[in-house]
Amino acid sequence: MKEQIIFNLKQVHNRIEEACKKTGRNPSEVQLLLATKTVSAENIRIAIETGEKLIGENKMQELRDKDSVLKNLNTERHFIGHLQTNKVKDVLKYVTCIQSLDRLSLAEELDKQLQKKGRSLDVFVQVNTSFEESKFGLPPSQVLTFIKEIKQFETLNLKGLMTIGLLDVDKEKMRPSLQLLRQIRDEILDTNLANCTDLKLSMGMSQDLELAIAEGSNLVRIGTSIFGNRFLGKEIWNENITE
Ligand SMILES: *Cc1c(COP(=O)(O)O)cnc(C)c1O
Repeated sequence: MKEQIIFNLKQVHNRIEEACKKTGRNPSEVQLLLATKTVSAENIRIAIETGEKLIGENKMQELRDKDSVLKNLNTERHFIGHLQTNKVKDVLKYVTCIQSLDRLSLAEELDKQLQKKGRSLDVFVQVNTSFEESKFGLPPSQVLTFIKEIKQFETLNLKGLMTIGLLDVDKEKMRPSLQLLRQIRDEILDTNLANCTDLKLSMGMSQDLELAIAEGSNLVRIGTSIFGNRFLGKEIWNENITE
């Protein structure tokens, strides 16, 4: 397993570099986040020891279960799954960023808990750019209003936008959902809605990594291509299922 993970990581870095080269981008503009749902703490450790740092978890339970190993390693943990409001307090114990901010009630609860702790938090707003019912995230048409609304929360540092693109065997079917995230980001910056000059795009997974980089991704979230298939039967984007 160890050799396999190390080999796969090299492959993924090669893919990122190739994709950057093809599109004239600098690989330093694209960060790799390891999507580690269902991956054991020991396998995550192998990746961290090769020099990775950033990991993303989808479920509170997994953050808690792996913490005894991960807290001693040099990692930065992000939350990338659907977050129930009643789990905010617990999740904040482990993560420095929530990439799945998708509703005002969640922003309010985050702000409340962060104020209590006297700290702030990086966030990405998750957008449902594939228009699939099964996916979480704000409808694209509501993003600008939402960005204005969350400006009131000084504890939340808006870092960018996140999407789970449409996955399909046909590349050209996948591209529009990635382009859309970029368009929304550009509109926010052009209109200076968020009072900032830079917002990152978190998009690209094992299947659409190259396309996402071509469309401007700054942060790719990769699970399967590094740790293998999860054999779940059902994909877990969210933290409601199987807990
Ligand atoms: C699982 C997951 C990924 C990674 O998907 P792979 O296809 O395994 O690379 C990326 N983002 C989110 C939000 C995920 O839940």
